[in-house]
Amino acid sequence: LAREVHRSQRRPGRLVVMMMDLDDFKNVNDSLGHPAGDDLLIEVSHRLLACLGDYDMAARLGGDEFAIILDSAATVKDAERTAAHILHEVGRPIRLGDNDVVVGASIGIAFGDARTIEAEELERDADLALYRAKSLGKNRFTIFETEMHIDAVRRMELTGELRRAIELRQLDVAYQPIVSLETGAIAGVEALARWHHPTRGTIPPDVFIPLAEETGLIAAIGRLILGKALADARRWHDEHPAHLTLRVAVNLSARQLGEDDAVTDVADALRSTGIDPQTVIIELTESALMPGEGVTVDRLTELSELGVHLFIDDFGTGWSSLQRLRALPVGGVKLPREFVTELPGPDGVGLARAVRDLTTTLGLESAVAEGIERPEQRLALRQLGYRLGQGFLLGRPMPAAELARVLRLTPSCGWDAPAGSEPAITLE
Ligand code: C2E
Ligand code: MG
Ligand code: MG
Repeated sequence: LAREVHRSQRRPGRLVVMMMDLDDFKNVNDSLGHPAGDDLLIEVSHRLLACLGDYDMAARLGGDEFAIILDSAATVKDAERTAAHILHEVGRPIRLGDNDVVVGASIGIAFGDARTIEAEELERDADLALYRAKSLGKNRFTIFETEMHIDAVRRMELTGELRRAIELRQLDVAYQPIVSLETGAIAGVEALARWHHPTRGTIPPDVFIPLAEETGLIAAIGRLILGKALADARRWHDEHPAHLTLRVAVNLSARQLGEDDAVTDVADALRSTGIDPQTVIIELTESALMPGEGVTVDRLTELSELGVHLFIDDFGTGWSSLQRLRALPVGGVKLPREFVTELPGPDGVGLARAVRDLTTTLGLESAVAEGIERPEQRLALRQLGYRLGQGFLLGRPMPAAELARVLRLTPSCGWDAPAGSEPAITLE
């Protein structure tokens, strides 16, 4: 690469460097064994070489990572065409023993020109583009842009600060009430992570949770949130006898659940706080349930055997198979805000009804509606048979101390009152 960079400084034309990474290689190794993984890498190498011209170069850097130097690409279009061709070829089924295996690949592309000085620069740019291709959903190529570099620097800074925030316990938990749609009585709370940054203000979980997952900090954050949430809930049970069965819902992401210690962490938090596991809900996103995300049925079973309830968050926005759902120890689902927002429009009604029917068919305990902002939405949900919900209309996420005040002022309601036990409502 250094030689090519050197040559390109004196020669018109572009130097193209690609970094390629297989998308689900680990699955192949895990499920079919390492010899099969080796065979797959060899076949991928053959296909890769077949896509390249005589003066192009390909190398395996290690694991499932490849680097490509294109000598024959005259234009950006040429490079894109080659990348698309490689993705197509690598993505065709590969015969391994008795199995046809499909692996996708992601490619990052960087262009060098007469101004490029260091080979490392090009490598880094291609790596950043690869990283972006992966985060955009894999099985695609992405061309480096300068702004990716800025992103990377910002991400690095933020990661350092997040690490410090965990040590200093600057991460906190906000609680959003889950209430009876009919009476407003409180059945539970959802614990939502908050990062109070000393200079940047409050950083939302949508930003720092994915960052924590990428950098492996998620396990530490998970333990922190679990510990705080379960301790708070335990205290509320003790201090507010009326709310003895108040449930606390904690979010666990797929990456988090994939960590070896995930179940132990939950068990430890249960033990050290002494909370009744029946009052604890673990919310998992649909993607956590998909095969191949590192979360096995065994792991979910172990988790549910601790006595906690498993709920699927944002149900209907992912890709879980109904067949699989039936086999898993799932207790309930959350109707996502995206659907509730559509209420009382016909699409929203259709979606909310479909989720309700499905939970009934699957024999799930409950469906909790999320993101209720307007009275019409609350009414529509009640008419559709939803008992419990959360949203800004019913209560915003709030600090623990404030929730304690709410508990003092609000009656409690059980999680699973039998259907029909509350008065029927009529349309106005
Ligand atoms: P989620 O689990 O679906 O949480 C619901 C989100 O909707 C929360 O955002 C909540 O503040 C927001 N929300 C509730 N009611 C309304 C409403 O009426 N209108 C609108 N517009 N929004 C409403 P938040 O706290 O920013 O959390 C975002 C996501 O971050 C969560 O989505 C969850 O996936 C993730 N998250 C939060 N805390 C944790 C955590 O401790 N661990 C993990 N792994 N993920 C977390
Ligand atoms: Mg949630
Ligand atoms: Mg949700």
